[in-house]
Amino acid sequence: TNRPIPPVKDCAKITPPYEKLIKNLAYVQKKILKDRPLTLSEKILYAHLWNPHEYDGGIVRGETYLKLKPDRVAMQDASAQMAILQFMLAGMPTTSVPSSIHCDHLIEAFQGADKDVETAKSVNKEIFDFLQSASEKYGIDFWKPGSGIIHQIVLENYAAPGGLMLGTDSHTPNAGGLGMVAIGVGGADAVDAMANIPWELKAPKIIGIKLNGRLSKWASPKDVILHLAGKLTVRGGTGHIIEYLGSGSETLSCTGMATIANMGAEVGATTSVFPFSDSMYSYLTETRRHQVAEEALRYASYLKADGNVQYDQFIEMNLSELEPHINGPFTPDLSTPLSKFAEVVAKNGWKDEVKVGLIGSCTNSSYQDMSRVVSLANQALVKGIQPKGDFFITPGSEQIRATMVRDGQTEVLEQVGGKVLANACGPCIGQWKRTGIKENEENAILTSFNRNFRSRNDNNPGTMNFLASPEIVTAMIFAGKLSFNPMVDTLIDKDGKPFKFQIPHGDELPRQGFESGNEDLEPIITFGNSSTEITISEDSNRLQKLKPFASWHGDEFKGMRVLVKVKGKCTTDHISAAGPWLKYKGHLENISNNTLIGALNSDNEKVNVVRNILTGEDGSIPDVARHYKENNVSWIIIADHNYGEGSAREHAALQVRYLGCPLIISRSFARIHETNLKKQGVLPLVFKNEKDYELFSGGDIIETVGVVGLEPGKDVIIKVKKYGNGNNFEVVTKHTMSKDQIEWFKMGSALNLIANKQKE
Ligand code: SF4
Repeated sequence: TNRPIPPVKDCAKITPPYEKLIKNLAYVQKKILKDRPLTLSEKILYAHLWNPHEYDGGIVRGETYLKLKPDRVAMQDASAQMAILQFMLAGMPTTSVPSSIHCDHLIEAFQGADKDVETAKSVNKEIFDFLQSASEKYGIDFWKPGSGIIHQIVLENYAAPGGLMLGTDSHTPNAGGLGMVAIGVGGADAVDAMANIPWELKAPKIIGIKLNGRLSKWASPKDVILHLAGKLTVRGGTGHIIEYLGSGSETLSCTGMATIANMGAEVGATTSVFPFSDSMYSYLTETRRHQVAEEALRYASYLKADGNVQYDQFIEMNLSELEPHINGPFTPDLSTPLSKFAEVVAKNGWKDEVKVGLIGSCTNSSYQDMSRVVSLANQALVKGIQPKGDFFITPGSEQIRATMVRDGQTEVLEQVGGKVLANACGPCIGQWKRTGIKENEENAILTSFNRNFRSRNDNNPGTMNFLASPEIVTAMIFAGKLSFNPMVDTLIDKDGKPFKFQIPHGDELPRQGFESGNEDLEPIITFGNSSTEITISEDSNRLQKLKPFASWHGDEFKGMRVLVKVKGKCTTDHISAAGPWLKYKGHLENISNNTLIGALNSDNEKVNVVRNILTGEDGSIPDVARHYKENNVSWIIIADHNYGEGSAREHAALQVRYLGCPLIISRSFARIHETNLKKQGVLPLVFKNEKDYELFSGGDIIETVGVVGLEPGKDVIIKVKKYGNGNNFEVVTKHTMSKDQIEWFKMGSALNLIANKQKE
C-alpha cells in the first residue's frame, strides 16, 4: 500500500502570518510593556492578541485576561462531536480558522489493526458520518479512522513554530515540540475560535526550564518529563506555560521535544513550548513543509525568548546526568529513577511481574522511538529471547506505520512477538478489550503513554499502570519483571547464557524520508459546502441536538442541596468516565448517566454512593442528581484540591450543568475544567479559607449572597444550613470570573452569548 512520497505540502494555511504577528508584538512590547524582555510564550501569545490596543493599562502574568486569535483548531472524534453540535448552534457557513477532525479515539484494540478499524467503522458509523458531513459543510479537514492520532498528525502536518492552536484534547501541547503554543481546551473554546470570537485566557505565568548537557545511554526525552512530573507534581504547572531553553534543548529531536511538551499536561501546565531549533527545521523539511521551515528561519528571532527574561519559576536540569524513570502507579507524578525502582517494588510488596508492555501512542511513536526500540528487539531476536507478556505497538499515524514497515521495523517487532495495533488511541484511552485478566486482579502493565489514572487503560481497578520510555517498556517486557533494570541486570538467552541489553540507539529521522502509506487514509479536504445536510437521527442514542441552557434567573441561588462532598482526587475521568461511555459523547442525556461515578464521597468513603435527601435512601450520584432535577432542586458539589484535573473533557462541565448544578465550590480547580464550567454557565467558586471545606457534608442547604452584582474580584458569601442538625454558618468564597465570563454566566452559557451575537 506504500506509494511515492507526495510533493511538498501547500503551506499557505499552515504558515503563521509572521509579519502581522511581529507587528502586533512590536506594539505590545514597545507601547504596553515598555520594552521589557519577553519569554517565548509571551511573544507568541501577545502576537496573537485580538486587539493589542485594549491592553494599554498593561499586561500582568497571572492576572490579565488575554483575548486571543488562534491560527488553527484541531479536534478528535470524541470531543469533536460536542464541539460540532455547539458550532451548529452558532449558525455560521464555515469555520473562520483552518480546522481539522481526527477519528482516533473510537477504535477499540482487540483483533489487530485492520479488523479493529473495520469494526470501529461499523460500530461508530453514525458518528463518523456525522463528523464527515459536518466537515464537508464547514470546510474542516477530515482524517478518517485509521489515519492516526490527532497530536501526531498535527505534528506531521499542521504545527508551525510561533503559531497558536487550540485542540479539543488535553495533549494538544504536543505541538510545543514544534515551537507552537498549542492549548488543550473544551469544545466550547474551539467554537470560539471557529466562530471568530476572541478566545480568552488568563495570561499564564511562565516556568523556565533550562536544559544543559545532552541525553546519553538509556535516557530519552520521555525521562525529562517523567523526572519533571515528580518535581512539579500534578498541580505544579497549573496556570503556567512551561518554556524550555538552554543548550540542552538544541540537542533534542523535534519529536522528543513533542513528547516532553505532550506530557506537560500531566503537571497541569497550560502548555509547553520549545524555541525554534535545527531539529525543528529538519522535521518540517522531512515532513514536506519546506516553506514553513524557511519562514520560521527567517523570523527566528521571534521564535525564541529575549535575553534576561524573568520567569515566575526557574528550574535547571542537566540532561547528561538524567537516568530513565518509571512513574506510577495511578498518578503520573509518582516518579522513581530506574536504579531505585526494584527497591520500591519490594517495599510496596508489588507482585514482581509485568503482564503487558505497550508502546507508541501520540506520546511516543516517533521514528526515533521506534528505531531505538527496534535496536533492542533486534538484540532479543538474535539471542532468542521472547517477551514474557503481551507486547503491543501503537503507531501514531499512517505515515509512521508505513515508514516502519518499509524500514523493516515492523517485521522485527512482529518476529519477537509484538502486535501492531491500529493507528489510533486504543489502550491509551481505555479502548482495549483486554483478555486474560480478572476484574480487580492485581497486575502490572508498563506503557510509554502519558496518563495512568486508575482503570484508564483497561477499565480494571486492579491494574497498576506505570509510565516509562518506549525503550524501558520494551526491555522490561522481555524480562517480565517489575524489578528488572536493563542498565545493569541480565537475562538468560536461548543458550542459557547471561545476556545484557546494549544501550538502545536509532535514527532521529528516516534516512529514506517518510512514507505516506495508504492513499485511502489521506484527509478529505473541502472548502465548505452550504448544501451539505448534517443528519442526526431523532432516535439516535449516540447523537442528540443540543438545546440552549436557560439563562440565569437574575436572583441569588436559594435552597440548593450539596449533592456530594468529593474527597481527594477528582479528575475529569472521575466526573465523566471514558471507556465504554465514549460512545455517548454526542448525546448529552445518555452520557450524563456517568456523572461523577468515579467520585469518592467524603461522608461515607464510598465511590458513587450518596444520600438522596428527598427519599432518605442512598443512590448513585447520577440517579440522585436526576431525581433532584426532576423535583426542581438545584444541587452543588463541594470539591477538594485541583477539581477537574486531567483532560479537557467539556462533558465534565456540560453534564453537571445539564443535571441541574449551577455552582461548584472547591479548594482549587484545574484550569481547563474551571474554564469549561464557566463556558457552560456554571459558577466555579473557591474557598477563601480552604479549611472551610471540612464544614460541609452532603444534603446541606446552600444559599448565595453576592451572585447578584457579581464582579471580577468580588467575593461570594455562602450561607449554609446543616443537613441533620439545622445549624447555620457562612463561608467566604472567591472566583476568577472576568467581565466577559460573567456575561456567559448571565446568558446561561458562552454559546448563548455567541448565538445572540450572530443574530445581531
Ligand atoms: Fe489518544 Fe492517548 Fe494521545 Fe489522548 S493521550 S490523544 S487518548 S493516544
